[in-house]
Amino acid sequence: MNSALRETVDNMLSAGRFPHAVLLYGDSGVGKKYSAKEISAMLLCHSGSKRFACGKCTSCTLLESDSHPDLIIAEHSGKRNGISVAEVRRLCADASIAPNTSDSKVYLILDADAMEAAAQNALLKIIEEPPENVYFIFTAQSKSVFLPTILSRIVSIGVGECSESECLKALAEHGIPTEDAKRAYEDNGGNIGKCLLSINDDDRIKVRQTVAALVDCIINRDEYGFLKVCHSIETDSEMTKNVLSEMIAVVRDISACRIDSDNSISIYRKGAYALSQTMSHKSVIRLYECVLAAYSDIKMNVSPKLALCLLCSQIFN
Ligand SMILES: [Zn+2]
Repeated sequence: MNSALRETVDNMLSAGRFPHAVLLYGDSGVGKKYSAKEISAMLLCHSGSKRFACGKCTSCTLLESDSHPDLIIAEHSGKRNGISVAEVRRLCADASIAPNTSDSKVYLILDADAMEAAAQNALLKIIEEPPENVYFIFTAQSKSVFLPTILSRIVSIGVGECSESECLKALAEHGIPTEDAKRAYEDNGGNIGKCLLSINDDDRIKVRQTVAALVDCIINRDEYGFLKVCHSIETDSEMTKNVLSEMIAVVRDISACRIDSDNSISIYRKGAYALSQTMSHKSVIRLYECVLAAYSDIKMNVSPKLALCLLCSQIFN
């Protein structure tokens, strides 16, 4: 949980008025689900201190083994992998039964983005008049997926990226070596989900390495190096498309990090920053147009070899 969210939650818990329905919303990967589970642990812990989970009591042990009877996670179903009316009814019926081992019951409705209006309506009554010691915690990427009637009855809390130290600590807890964690933070910022993806996914690693190599060649004005890297991906049109798509994000970041270095979205922030120190605004726009054109070509099924060759000649001439 990042420090801003922790402070908000601490204030609510220490005042003894944690809301019965909370929505944690924010970008994919910022740790909403992880935070929802941490909050559940605090609400369910037997230690008596509502401000932290002791990690030792029966409740904390049951949570550790994913078998806590008073933590109920809504199941997803259907084509859109949403939460059905039937599932909401099941939760509502369950909420009237007293807790099993803790003083409270917590219902987690995670990834609620694809929750149909009918399912939301089925929740209205229980959210308005919740049984005592029953908590609902929702997570979603955006508040806008909820009906106004739901939003007016729940407390919405925005979840942002973690600081560097929080991110490195969380990655260390996932067993990521410090060097890898630092590089992932440099490339992705404090979005732990994105950091983990960039570390664990083989295709993603190759995309990242290729983008970094191409950008480094642009920084060093190394046309031959650039061509060599292009040659390594030109038979794979999907990879070329992904690389170019990420290149677009890097070029966007060149402009963005002149204004605010925290405003980056690309997987090679360091390279974008380096280029922002040397390229003129006009050259950045030109580079953006070339990369975008190459990306559009690939999407139109132009051969990757041709598109990359053209891109190289445009960048280095
Ligand atoms: Zn405990």
